[in-house]
Amino acid sequence: HRISSTPFPFLSKSSGSRSASTLVLAEHEGGSIKAQSLSAVVAASSIGENNSVSMLLAGSGSSLLKAAESAATCHPSLSQVLVADSDKFEYPLAEPWSKLVQLVQQQGGYSHVIATSGSFGKNILPRAAALLDISPVTDVVEIIGSHQFVRPIYAGNALCTVRYTGASPCMLTVRSTSFPVPPVSGDLKSDRAPISQVDLSTLDEDSIGKSRYIKLLSEDTERPDLGSAHIVVTGGRALKSAENFKLIEKLAEKLGAAVGATRAAVDAGFVPNELQVGQTGKIVAPELYLAFGVSGAIQHLAGMKDSKVIVAVNKDADAPIFQVADYGLVGDLFEVIPDLLEKLPEK
Ligand code: FAD
Repeated sequence: HRISSTPFPFLSKSSGSRSASTLVLAEHEGGSIKAQSLSAVVAASSIGENNSVSMLLAGSGSSLLKAAESAATCHPSLSQVLVADSDKFEYPLAEPWSKLVQLVQQQGGYSHVIATSGSFGKNILPRAAALLDISPVTDVVEIIGSHQFVRPIYAGNALCTVRYTGASPCMLTVRSTSFPVPPVSGDLKSDRAPISQVDLSTLDEDSIGKSRYIKLLSEDTERPDLGSAHIVVTGGRALKSAENFKLIEKLAEKLGAAVGATRAAVDAGFVPNELQVGQTGKIVAPELYLAFGVSGAIQHLAGMKDSKVIVAVNKDADAPIFQVADYGLVGDLFEVIPDLLEKLPEK
């Protein structure tokens, strides 16, 4: 189900030793760096041996400073943490953030700018790239050399090797699922990267106030984040109603898993849009992906087929999901899930 395109003949595998300086746009929450942003640091560290990696954090108040402290020791390749402290950056709005990236790029002259391809990076990086007159390379899944990258095309059905030949900086969004963060152990950075304040005195504040943060509508849940969960339980249109979808939620709770949904389930109003997995939803690659009543449309597969183990339950033996599943059960989810709920031990 995955075709790897042959690299263009003129693309030779680069030694990666060219010196580079990379700026990572990072998100933080509650004083910690988000796991997805750490993946961007992992990606940045593979750009070249002589690459110096800087992380840009923005926001205001004590949680920003706490996040900067935790960033300072987050990865051995990090050489500095840049902090932009202003209430303009309290929320990740594209307009102020892209102006900030433009400013920091002008001050630091980075060869690369990286963000993960979640809603934060997809929102900010293209706008920042436009301000810098750069064409960004998006959805990178592999870094071959400082200017050679692999990215999916045709909804993930082929992988394309591209070489960036534009002006500096080379701007990338990377898929966090392709640059996993090693488990926190003794290999944290032993020496602390220096933390510096970004000089915001020349920031053109007048042009950044066109959009305004109003509120965040998000499901208040104890469940793990869909983008970084080890187990994801997904339900499709076959669930038929929001009430029935609770079966998926109960199973996820028992397994300590995140809940996912197909676009059909989202469009039918069973669950909010933030749970959509796929080409136009979230890209996930958990250890275990359980799909119930999901047909396996190409746009859904684009978001989950890199999962380590895929289990599918569908009453149609010819459903395309079985072509990517490691374990498949032809059955009725309304019988299978209650059975599982009964047999799985209480948490
Ligand atoms: P269906 O295709 O209707 O499949 C339902 C399945 O449930 C069937 O296979 C059926 O056999 C099975 N079933 C029915 N009853 C039961 C039962 N009782 N027990 C077990 N199995 C049962 N889709 C996404 O998911 N994510 C995306 O990001 C996405 N982006 C898209 C972008 C574009 C541009 C387009 C055009 C489409 C996109 N789609 C996306 C939609 C996608 O093409 C499919 O329509 C969608 O994934 C189908 O969802 P589904 O599998 O829930 O529904």
